[in-house]
Amino acid sequence: MTIGEFELIDRYFTGIGPGDEAVALGIGDDCALFDCRPGEQLAISVDTLVAGVHFPAAADAYRIAQRALRVNLSDLAAMGARPFAFTLALTLPAADETWLAAFSRGLRDAAQAFGITLIGGNTTRGRDCVINIQVMGGVPAGAALLRSGARPGDAVLVSGCLGDARAALPLLEADSAALDAGQRYLLDRYFQPEPRVALGVALRGIASAAIDISDGLAADLGHILAASDVGAVIDPALLPLSPALRGGDRAREFALHGGDDYELCCTVPPDRLAAAQAAARQLAVPLTVIGAIGADRGLRARGADGALTPLPPHGYRHF
Ligand code: ADP
Ligand code: MG
Repeated sequence: MTIGEFELIDRYFTGIGPGDEAVALGIGDDCALFDCRPGEQLAISVDTLVAGVHFPAAADAYRIAQRALRVNLSDLAAMGARPFAFTLALTLPAADETWLAAFSRGLRDAAQAFGITLIGGNTTRGRDCVINIQVMGGVPAGAALLRSGARPGDAVLVSGCLGDARAALPLLEADSAALDAGQRYLLDRYFQPEPRVALGVALRGIASAAIDISDGLAADLGHILAASDVGAVIDPALLPLSPALRGGDRAREFALHGGDDYELCCTVPPDRLAAAQAAARQLAVPLTVIGAIGADRGLRARGADGALTPLPPHGYRHF
């Protein structure tokens, strides 16, 4: 590497995020020190992104960084945790400073937007670019939103709209100059998903269960159903679709089975439904009822004629 390891850390990975009073010691020593707050639980999650597997190796480094941090923040959102701090373990084939500068900017912008501070990490050379981010957040003890709390009678809701990131997949390697506004919107949804952090926090004490949609609605709602030992019936006609997706002939299939949207799917008891909808309205986040939890196991779709069809956790594997 032309630039030294410590110079690199100093130049590209210090001062990222707004800072947090709980960070007693950040980057520069053998460990960071984090003050644990009484009555609060630490929510921790880690994700690895590998070039050529999770993102195209040639993709814009700014967007890769944005996506890497946002995807992790989505796990905190799904628990109702407030983001505190994150660590970054980075493997790079070379210390390409153009790449590093763009990556650092993407990380900085996402960290600032969601109030999370980089407190440490590791930097190594390796054959492929591998980005490993661990996020930490706080939640009042016992208040985290788990997958296991859904009960028969609860409404099933999703935030935002679904299927956009799946619709963006064929566009990932496209020449951006050739894309129309709708296609650019879909790509933004893939590279810059909106982790529903504020909504997750607002749903504490309201939602009975929550998950973020990374593998597709059917698969991820399926995790809630399994963990809660219940079933659900959803109405595919109620799935929220963006204007960019709505016309497409595979829109509903993408919304049901497409991954990478990072919206929240939650369940809410009927007596707290108005509170959930008021919280979402205050945050200007769409939150749509798409079905209900029942005692019969499994996930089923209600057709226009009222007939129920079992929904497999995955659709046809087109990709
Ligand atoms: P050690 O050898 O004790 O593990 P390092 O020499 O790897 O420490 O790192 C020195 C300091 O820089 C540590 O505080 C570490 O957390 C931080 N650091 C290293 N790489 C990164 C990175 N990519 N992002 C943020 N902090 C980093
Ligand atoms: Mg050490």
